[in-house]
Amino acid sequence: MTVHLVGAGPGDPGLLTLRGAEVLRRADVVVHDRLSQSSLLDLAPVGAERISVGKSPRGPSTPQEEINRLLVEKGRAGLEVVRLKGGDPFVFGRGGEEAAALAAAGVPFEVVPGVTSAVAVPAYAGIPVTHRGMSTSFTVVTGTDAPWASSETDWESVAKVGGTIVILMGVATRATIAQRLIGGGLAPDTPVAAVRWGTRPDQRTVRTTLADLGETDVASPAVIVVGAVAAIDLGWYEHRPLFGRRIVVTRARAQASTLASQLADLGADVVEVPTIDIADASDGGAALVDAAKRVGSYDWVVFTSTNAVERLLAHVRDGRAFGAAKLAVVGSATADALSDARLVADLVPDRFVAEALVDAFPDGPGTVLVPQAADARPVLADGLRAKGWSVDVVEAYRTVTGRPSAAALAAARDADAITFTSSSTVAGYLEVAGLDAVPPVVASIGPITTRTAKELGLEVTVEADPSTVAGLVEAVLRTLSS
Ligand code: SAH
Repeated sequence: MTVHLVGAGPGDPGLLTLRGAEVLRRADVVVHDRLSQSSLLDLAPVGAERISVGKSPRGPSTPQEEINRLLVEKGRAGLEVVRLKGGDPFVFGRGGEEAAALAAAGVPFEVVPGVTSAVAVPAYAGIPVTHRGMSTSFTVVTGTDAPWASSETDWESVAKVGGTIVILMGVATRATIAQRLIGGGLAPDTPVAAVRWGTRPDQRTVRTTLADLGETDVASPAVIVVGAVAAIDLGWYEHRPLFGRRIVVTRARAQASTLASQLADLGADVVEVPTIDIADASDGGAALVDAAKRVGSYDWVVFTSTNAVERLLAHVRDGRAFGAAKLAVVGSATADALSDARLVADLVPDRFVAEALVDAFPDGPGTVLVPQAADARPVLADGLRAKGWSVDVVEAYRTVTGRPSAAALAAARDADAITFTSSSTVAGYLEVAGLDAVPPVVASIGPITTRTAKELGLEVTVEADPSTVAGLVEAVLRTLSS
């Protein structure tokens, strides 16, 4: 088996390469740096071992020899090992030493290059490292004076190369570097940009000059760009409408969060707090399997969530099993889940709540199957029975309390806004985080969720209209950018 030295990119999870994602998805072990984005670690299988070999500027860190030994040991054990490293593994990442150790031990390895911060971080700050008529080269140099960077940098010569100078790990030594570059002939008013936490929601760009760099407040980790291009400001990332806003997204761990990715695309710093988990039905799914066998014998099958669709369809081998049964859904997301299986909903109410579905439903008699959550509201089944239908409610899954990490909870406490997509996420959030961890802006997906939130003591700032994820995103955007 192979040890994959994978470049994770500088922070934005979207900058991982396709090959990187592919090897992560089948990793047995992931050995990662402290700064690795948790959403990248989530790509690895649930059961994969995750080992942090965090190197923090001041805190404890795992010595390089130890990391090398670990990679050799896991590789020899016949495991698929991913060594996830910031940026590109061979740009100041000590990836060369890891590859050498693996080669010496006869362990097969692969290098998956990554997007280096040297280029991507300036790009996210709106700075092209080369620019027609301004800079025809860029030189990437480390500013560290750590012992491993053995050879001393000849900064006076670097100053004479011309073009752009990109300095990594240069925050602590920036005053000396600036002085020596000026000593080498660069003008004191040469533009400088320092970009901290580039490509991440907390990105900050500071513009200064070489003469003032030493006195300018810059904190690590930062990429420092020196040269005419550092005065260019083609800013885009920091200009997105929700940039700098932290928003809590409550969700079930198992659900892919389109809400989170839509908010992130608008620039928000999204904190995902899993408040509910989807678990098997209390009977292990026996009743659901049984209902799936008879699904074609019903007049209607009614779905009130995407989870219900997924759980039932998992036991339906061929869509023709539905026979003449008609399909009703409570909302558009549930309809989309059905259409992923090439099944078209016959009935979608105008408002996406159970009451509206009951109103829109024809009168009985006949038979209806409702696969739903164990704790679902009885409104739907009761309403349909009142209309003359014979209703079989089958437990398709249970919602149980999630277990968010301490880091996610701490981040949620300073958030600007929180989104709730169902009553159970409201209750779940209060259970795992508490009332004092509710941010100032509360956005609800619709009237039922709003009512639950109010009953539980929350003030709802804004409600989505329509009650969809897109409506919720729009409501958050309107509230936070006003
Ligand atoms: N292999 C990495 C670099 C590792 S050295 C790469 O190719 O990007 C670590 C240094 O990279 C930091 O001190 C900082 O100078 C820079 N760096 C990495 N990610 C960064 C980020 N998101 N924002 C700013 N600087 C970053």
